[in-house]
Amino acid sequence: MKNISIIGSTGSIGTQALDIVRDNNDLKVVAMSCGSNIDLMERQAREFLPSLISVSKDEDAETLRVKLADTGIKVVSGMDGLIEVATIDSADIVLTAIVGMIGVEPTLAAIEAGKDIALANKETLVTAGHLVMKAAKEKGVKILPVDSEHSAIFQSLQGNRRELQGEMDNKVTRILLTASGGPFRGKSKDELVDVTVEQALKHPNWSMGPKITIDSASMVNKGLEVIEAHWLFDKDIDEIEVLIQPQSIIHSAVEYEDGAVIAQLGTPDMRLPIQYAFYYPERRYLRGDRLDFSKIASIEIQKPDYETFKGIPLAKEASRVGGSMPTVMNEANEHAVAAFLAGRIKFLEIYEMIAYAMSKHTVIADAGLRDIIETRDWTDEILRDKYHV
Ligand code: NAD
Ligand code: MG
Repeated sequence: MKNISIIGSTGSIGTQALDIVRDNNDLKVVAMSCGSNIDLMERQAREFLPSLISVSKDEDAETLRVKLADTGIKVVSGMDGLIEVATIDSADIVLTAIVGMIGVEPTLAAIEAGKDIALANKETLVTAGHLVMKAAKEKGVKILPVDSEHSAIFQSLQGNRRELQGEMDNKVTRILLTASGGPFRGKSKDELVDVTVEQALKHPNWSMGPKITIDSASMVNKGLEVIEAHWLFDKDIDEIEVLIQPQSIIHSAVEYEDGAVIAQLGTPDMRLPIQYAFYYPERRYLRGDRLDFSKIASIEIQKPDYETFKGIPLAKEASRVGGSMPTVMNEANEHAVAAFLAGRIKFLEIYEMIAYAMSKHTVIADAGLRDIIETRDWTDEILRDKYHV
């Protein structure tokens, strides 16, 4: 029996993880948390009967305590609640399916408590990758990637004896990180000026939460993923090459020093990387469509348009500067995406706000957790001053 704690159980990744649990009777959910979707949380709690749940607000916790009184489930709230869920004694592995850098503290706490991490929450690695990877190494816990590209890279690294945390026996010369290009692939800057939230939310291949869907449209997602790959696989930013693969069939690949390229392919289905992280190194049967090569007309590869879609160059720049700069890049994006989703800024202003915040920042070189949190608050403040959103 494997005991799982899920932070962000009501979201896109969280609900798909619960599908995996439904299909496998040797997985048990011992704790879960969410933001404000307490109706779904109530249903999930009744179905999976964890011993602990957590929600963002105190008043929502109170409501759930009354509604779930007959179950004996403990209900907590806020950041303390998230940390309690992430560190619960009974959990073997914590799935970080929360969105945004709010995941940093619970993830670090889970590692401190000796839990393996199934990591979907990429913003945590972008802002605190140096702290997370160091703590994981010290504690001897695994950071198992759930992001589809990083799972694909991880799968392509199997066969090396020590695949985890960057220690490899065979030399990897390049990581080939694929991207679908999102709903606006091929569009010019002029065509992006007036795109709507609705258009940006129409991803061609994946159904995901709103924040990452906007990030996919802006290619900021791929920028964050370059930094994520840098930390997970201990590779220089310049050894990670982004390729556009519009059908999302090649999920990413690795090139070895002899020139061999090993990739992982499959239908676009997040349940595979989630399940792989839960059972690593074992593979299990997974319901769903298989690739039918007789029906695939072609597998296209294109170069990204870095002029129009500035997400990758901005992220690479932040990563090269290092220290607190990736936090600024990430938080400015979180701030801008929330404003875009609320209809308060235009699409291209997302890049403008990121570039503005980065240009104003004085880098803290050896950024600790406190510095990261202060940098997040500083970023929000200067963006509010300048853009009034
Ligand atoms: P989502 O918006 O669908 O779900 C987010 C979850 O976090 C929800 O359960 C929500 O209640 C919870 N949450 C949000 N704010 C919270 C708060 N303040 N306190 C407590 N809980 C809070 O997001 P998602 O698409 O599932 O993405 C989750 C993470 O996984 C993100 O970091 C994303 O980049 C990453 N990811 C997602 C996908 C995907 O297919 N959805 C793929 C790769 C990586
Ligand atoms: Mg991804």
